[in-house]
Amino acid sequence: MSRTVFTADLHLSDDTPALNRLFFEALAQWRGQLDALYILGDLFEVWLGDDILSETAVQTASALKSFAETAPVYFICGNRDFLLGRRYAQQAGMTLLSEVQPLELYGKKYLISHGDELCTDDIAYQRFRRVMRQKWLQRVLLCLPQQFRKNTAEKIRNKSKAVQREMGQSSISDVTEAAVQTALSRHPDTDTVIHGHTHRPAVHHHDFQGKTVARYVIPDWYGKHGGYVEVSPQGEEIKMLEDAV
Ligand code: MN
Repeated sequence: MSRTVFTADLHLSDDTPALNRLFFEALAQWRGQLDALYILGDLFEVWLGDDILSETAVQTASALKSFAETAPVYFICGNRDFLLGRRYAQQAGMTLLSEVQPLELYGKKYLISHGDELCTDDIAYQRFRRVMRQKWLQRVLLCLPQQFRKNTAEKIRNKSKAVQREMGQSSISDVTEAAVQTALSRHPDTDTVIHGHTHRPAVHHHDFQGKTVARYVIPDWYGKHGGYVEVSPQGEEIKMLEDAV
């Protein structure tokens, strides 16, 4: 044993049957093999509230619940599924963590998050994020009629597709050095940072207070491919998954 998996950005929905299958297969393979599974946000493409569950959300909950009998499952919300709440977490056997979570694992100190909070050059998004993460506003949103929430999500999705077309993989949507330094200064004993969100899997190194801190970016799941960061007493490794079907 002595393996812990960090994954993120699966963006599962009823439109991603290959990815859903790939995730369920991974869970089956990880069964009995992991100390813990951490899902660092954007497990789902969209989340309108725990009272509106897609078929995929229901299937994912039962797959996770079953896996959680063998190892704890932790969840940090992403920018797509920040409305995911305690009710669904319980249904899926997941424990909700705060947005930026310090963690000790195999004698090393980790700092884990979704990663969108580190993309501070995207000022418009950070403003939107600050507003949307207000608990009172989320409570209001979750009280809106289901059909209204579905329509609004559709509008936001179309708008964000248009913005993505214009911006593409621009540097504005990547992590900034300043944001990493700020996060590290809040958690100065961090050895390694792990996050997702940017869809640019890589290992970066940051100088902080005379030491080098590694930052692992988790692969996103797309088409027939997925990925994760595996942590063991030997260290960290980025691993890829492929749907064989
Ligand atoms: Mn994201």
